[in-house]
Amino acid sequence: MKNLPEILEVSDYDNLLAKEADALRRKVYFDEVYLRGLIEFTNFCKNDCYYCGLRISNTNLPRYRLSEEEILSCCKTGYELGLRTFVLQGGEDPYFTDDKICSIISSIKGLYKDVAVTLSIGEKKKESYLAYFKAGADRYLLREESANPLHYSKLHPKNLSSEKRKECLKNLKEIGYQVGAGFMVGSPFQGINEILSDIEFLKQLSPDMIGIGPFVSNPETPFAHYPNGSVEMTLKLISILRILFPHALIPATTSLWTLDPSALEKALKCGANVIMPNITPKRVRDNYRLYPGKTNTEKEAAQTVADLKSIISAAGYRAVSSKGDVRRI
Ligand code: SAH
Ligand code: SF4
Repeated sequence: MKNLPEILEVSDYDNLLAKEADALRRKVYFDEVYLRGLIEFTNFCKNDCYYCGLRISNTNLPRYRLSEEEILSCCKTGYELGLRTFVLQGGEDPYFTDDKICSIISSIKGLYKDVAVTLSIGEKKKESYLAYFKAGADRYLLREESANPLHYSKLHPKNLSSEKRKECLKNLKEIGYQVGAGFMVGSPFQGINEILSDIEFLKQLSPDMIGIGPFVSNPETPFAHYPNGSVEMTLKLISILRILFPHALIPATTSLWTLDPSALEKALKCGANVIMPNITPKRVRDNYRLYPGKTNTEKEAAQTVADLKSIISAAGYRAVSSKGDVRRI
C-alpha cells in the first residue's frame, strides 16, 4: 500500500480505498446509517471566521433565533419521524446563556428518554461544557478546523487560536462527552501537509465523530474569491479516515451534498455512516447561510427524511431509528 502523502496526491487508488473502508464500516456498524435531526437554532455569531457567512461582519444576513418552544416543536416532529439524536447547532450567540442552553437540553431529555442531544455551539469555558453535560448533553461537535497553528491563523482573526480550539476539545473529552472534530477540505491555503497535520491531530485526539466537508466559497466573506474544495478529495479522505478510525461516526456532511447531491450516496459507500437531515423550521432555514447553495431549504422535515431514507437504501444500507452511539472496539 502507498503511504498517505502519495495516496493524497494521486487518485488511482480511490476505489480500493473505498472498498476497504466499506468493509471496515460493515464490520463495526454493519449496514446501519444513523440519522441526526439538525436544528440550526441561531445564526447570530460573535466571531468573525473568514470563511463563514454567519460571521459578525456579514451585515447582509437577516439574523434569527429560535425560542425554546420552537426548538421543542422541531424535536417533536423529528421524534415522530424516528429521529433519536438532535443536534443543536448555532453561531456563538451570547443571548443563549448557559442557563438557557441547559434549560433546552433538560427539556428535550425530560420529554424523550431514548434520545441523544448533541451540541455544536463553539468554544465555551470548561464550566459551561460541564453544566451542559450535567443537564444531559451527550455529544459535542467542535471541528479543530486546522490543526496547524499557522494555517489556522490564516482562516481566523487574531482573537481565535488553534491552541484554544484544541484546549476546548481536550476539556470536552475530559468531561466525558462523545466528541466530534474535523476540518474543511480545500480551505484556502490548505495543502497536503496541512491535511496530514489534521490527520495526525485526530490520531492523538481519537475522537468519536469526525466531520469533514469541502470548503464552499461564500461571496459574503473575505474568502469570496477562493475556489470550492474538491468533492473527490473529500470522498477519498472519508475512506482514509474510516480506515484509520474504524469505530468513528463519520457523517456525509451538508457541504458535500451542497456541491454534489450524488456525493451523498458515494460518501456512504466510502465509509460514512451518519446523515444529518435538517429539521430547522423552513421559515428560517435559508438564513443559516454558512455558505450558499444549501439544498433542501424548501422541503418539510418529513420529506427530507423520506428522501434520505430512499437514498440510503438505494446505496445498500439501512437507516436505523436509534441513538447510534459510538462503538469503540
Ligand atoms: N459556530 C460553531 C458551529 C457552527 S459552524 C462552530 O464554529 O463550531 C459549523 C461548521 O461549519 C464549522 O466548524 C465549519 O467547519 C463549517 N463551515 C463554516 N463555513 C463554511 C464554508 N464556507 N464551507 C464549508 N464549511 C463551512
Ligand atoms: Fe461563528 Fe462558527 Fe461561523 Fe465561526 S464558523 S463565524 S464560530 S458560526
